[in-house]
Amino acid sequence: MKPSGVQRKIWIDGALVPWDEAGVHLLSHSHQRGSLVFDYLSVHETPKGTAIFRVDEHVERFRTSCVLVGLPLEASADAIRAAVLAAVRANPGACVAKICAYLPSVEVDVVPVDDHVALAVAAYDPTADIQARKPGALPFRKTVRLHIERETRNRRSDIIPPQAKVAANYVSPMVAKWRARRKGYDEIVLLDEEGDLAEGPTTNLFLVDDAGCVCTPPEARVLLGITRRSILELARAEGFAVREAPLAVETLESAAEVFLTGTTAGVWPVESVDGKPVAAQVPGPVTRALSERFRRVVAGADPTFAHWLTPVSEAGGRD
Ligand code: PMP
Repeated sequence: MKPSGVQRKIWIDGALVPWDEAGVHLLSHSHQRGSLVFDYLSVHETPKGTAIFRVDEHVERFRTSCVLVGLPLEASADAIRAAVLAAVRANPGACVAKICAYLPSVEVDVVPVDDHVALAVAAYDPTADIQARKPGALPFRKTVRLHIERETRNRRSDIIPPQAKVAANYVSPMVAKWRARRKGYDEIVLLDEEGDLAEGPTTNLFLVDDAGCVCTPPEARVLLGITRRSILELARAEGFAVREAPLAVETLESAAEVFLTGTTAGVWPVESVDGKPVAAQVPGPVTRALSERFRRVVAGADPTFAHWLTPVSEAGGRD
């Protein structure tokens, strides 16, 4: 493998492995079958030092994904949490962490003979460590040109539930988003199998209706985004009405404000849907209020939600 020049270390089954040496075999089960389960957390500089956003909720979702996919991960929640903290400590300047559970064994059948599930945590800066090294990477846009992906043939929650963050779940959205990108859109929103609005490939969807109510599709239909959950709590704290209910496509077309949420995106205002502007001013007032509150929370500047941040210093961690 050509050295990338990235100096980071990845925690793999208890050892810190140099970034360029953190590989698996081409024929490994997880690579061939898409069975890798992951979760993705954000890391922030706060007045109390480097801190991880809602680490326990991410660890819990990660373990749920493993159960949904049937991966026999042995590590306890505390052990995974300790690994995340160790990986972040070993990689100063990291602003995200990715936890992975995968079957590194080279296998023939879909059911592995060697079912050892490896646990890995990478902590890094996606812009400096990855994007900046790729000349073709698209710059981040502050507002989104959204496309509604109306094809529902592949939206089958009885195959793999949307709550599982497993590699295989991202192939169908990849196909749809790639198609939309070629048409000049930044992002897509997928429909669920009922034809209602669901979520983006890596984001949850919110809209603000005419009455100022903050609406998002219900838990059964989407990945349980940690940012989604946080925004619902912050919206209530800000005094906005909140509704989790199925949303027909037309509700998006008539919404006063639309935004996406995710660990990477934070609160990401939508400027247009299928080429039609959402409103004269983007972000709208509700989106702006939630985005600013969320930014204060992750920066450690909001005492009400200070418990959402776990400092990685020895004193702050439980490990
Ligand atoms: N939906 C999907 C399918 C995702 O992959 C993600 C990214 N994890 C999200 C929504 C947003 O979740 P979170 O806020 O936890 O990043």
